[in-house]
Amino acid sequence: MSGEVELSAEAQTLRSEPVILRDRKLLACGTCGWVHYAMTFDEKIANDRSLVRYKLSPAEQLIYQSAYRQCLRCEAPVSGFRAAEERDLTRAGGHLVTPVMIDQS
Ligand SMILES: [Zn+2]
Repeated sequence: MSGEVELSAEAQTLRSEPVILRDRKLLACGTCGWVHYAMTFDEKIANDRSLVRYKLSPAEQLIYQSAYRQCLRCEAPVSGFRAAEERDLTRAGGHLVTPVMIDQS
């Protein structure tokens, strides 16, 4: 994978340190081509922990959890994602790369 393309990662939660995208598994939405990066299991756990202080209701938690399993842009499910290709990454240079949770990772 090329590290040439400058990508900025958005951490939707409260992460203060930048997310390193180099060597990350990048996925493109199979429907609209929006690029996401695969969140690691450890990051997911850390995110979940950081949410505790917000005392989300069960409904809000459901929204939060599902947000990591679909395309940010068109809401297509993660199951329809494919590996990001060079042209996806080129296009992704203009937007934030958002995290998704892949069960099998
Ligand atoms: Zn999409």
